[in-house]
Amino acid sequence: CIASGSKEIYEKMKNLAEVNENVSVDFGGEVPHPEIKKSGCHGFCEMGPLMRIEPLGILYLKVKPEDCEEIYEKTVCHGEAIERLLYHKDGQVYQSEESIPFYAGQTRLVLKNCGHIDAENIGEYIAVGGYKALEKVLFDMSKEEGLDLMEESNLRGRGGGGFPAGKKWKQVARQKETERYVVCNGDEGDPGAFMDRSIMEGDPHKMLEGMLIGAYLTGAQNAYIYVRAEYPLAVERLRKAIAQAEEYGLVGEHILGTDFSLQFHINRGAGAFVCGEGSALTASIEGNRGMPRVKPPRTVEQGLFGKPTVLNNVETYANVPMIINNGAEWYKGIGTAGSPGTKAFALTGNVNNTGLIEVPMGSTLRQIIYDIGGGLKGDAGFKGVQIGGPSGGCLTEEHLDIPLDFDSVKKYNAIIGSGGLVVMDENTCMVEVARFFMNFTQRESCGKCVPCREGTKRMLEILEKIVGGKGEESDLDELSELAEMIRSMALCGLGKSAPLPVISTLNTFYDEYKEHIVDKK
Ligand code: SF4
Repeated sequence: CIASGSKEIYEKMKNLAEVNENVSVDFGGEVPHPEIKKSGCHGFCEMGPLMRIEPLGILYLKVKPEDCEEIYEKTVCHGEAIERLLYHKDGQVYQSEESIPFYAGQTRLVLKNCGHIDAENIGEYIAVGGYKALEKVLFDMSKEEGLDLMEESNLRGRGGGGFPAGKKWKQVARQKETERYVVCNGDEGDPGAFMDRSIMEGDPHKMLEGMLIGAYLTGAQNAYIYVRAEYPLAVERLRKAIAQAEEYGLVGEHILGTDFSLQFHINRGAGAFVCGEGSALTASIEGNRGMPRVKPPRTVEQGLFGKPTVLNNVETYANVPMIINNGAEWYKGIGTAGSPGTKAFALTGNVNNTGLIEVPMGSTLRQIIYDIGGGLKGDAGFKGVQIGGPSGGCLTEEHLDIPLDFDSVKKYNAIIGSGGLVVMDENTCMVEVARFFMNFTQRESCGKCVPCREGTKRMLEILEKIVGGKGEESDLDELSELAEMIRSMALCGLGKSAPLPVISTLNTFYDEYKEHIVDKK
């Protein structure tokens, strides 16, 4: 919303509230002087900037600075909704967020507070039950009980790997070495993905609370948050959140009067995609060049500064407080048996309702693209969706009804990844898509191992040749051969998954590759 002008709207509304300080607000009885607040991301990016009027529950879309006076006069002061600023579809008008199909089809648990609370005010997080889970693990359960609960919940890491977080935490808690760390991976580098950024900007305390619980249960004394360079607002809000939590005795020495102490540190990335890989990320925090290393030893044994380390991403930590508050059984009641809970996806591309969504694991692409996303732009036909970022894979029409969870999509040479969904219509050239993603991963290869450094370069050359109309039939065999070689021999996840867009498009759109060779000669 900042990109589409929300800062100007915020200033305008604030001025109106100041100028009209003595104007009475006459709807719904006891309403104090109106407050104008900044919120985090509402998720409905296509319709930004968005504005909520509480307690009326009105959501205005595509607000312009010139709408502000009317909004203040009619809605803020007199409780009257302005129809043209509400969501319209098929002749129907939707006043509240909950009723709009984009939101109605979602299950917003991790993103529940985003767009609803002031992210810069710890009081608002506490008012909606924030830090209750931390209190619960500190005072109402033993560490073993907390770790058991996390393992039972089967929360799987939302960064892409899907490794069970509770299992990882137990492995760290079991280490002999007592100097331990918790690290949060906020280096969200996939093009079109912004799930973690929205959580850090819109509800930073939820993630901090998850990290605090992780640190307490595993015996860590220091917490590091690694945020990508392109997220300055996330860094600003995290800094404010940590400072406020410190004032409330929730961070620092003797948290809430206990023996548990935790110091937070924020590290800013320098724009390298590979630093999202665990060992490259910890190397970067240590001040070394961000390059992956051979494993073992694993991060849980020798991670940051060679010490046992819990490394999870932003969304994973943000799941923790609600699991502690509601229990493992409640959590397992959402999603699928193998992948419980919800998943946040960044829905972008040729879809009507682009934005940030959250759905139970196991939801289908059809539900996401048609019910929540409102179908394809201009009623074009659906061709495919790139899932899991540049190193994910391409799912097509035949996959519209498969459940999206960690295990199901793997069967189709794709991964859930961190949650990027780029929708493509019938006019998209799939060879160009493969070239675009290969160009990205090739540029981001750290160069440490030959299969990835040289292999992706050769694959990109072939793809450029094909797109440029100079491809030959034998190029397709060579592409497949290189893809398999890189997949099996690259050192880290970036290289291993770099050929996936080519493999999946070759599998599904082989004729399109062939047409390219014939047509463009
Ligand atoms: Fe670096 Fe690529 Fe090798 Fe990973 S696979 S270590 S990114 S060269």
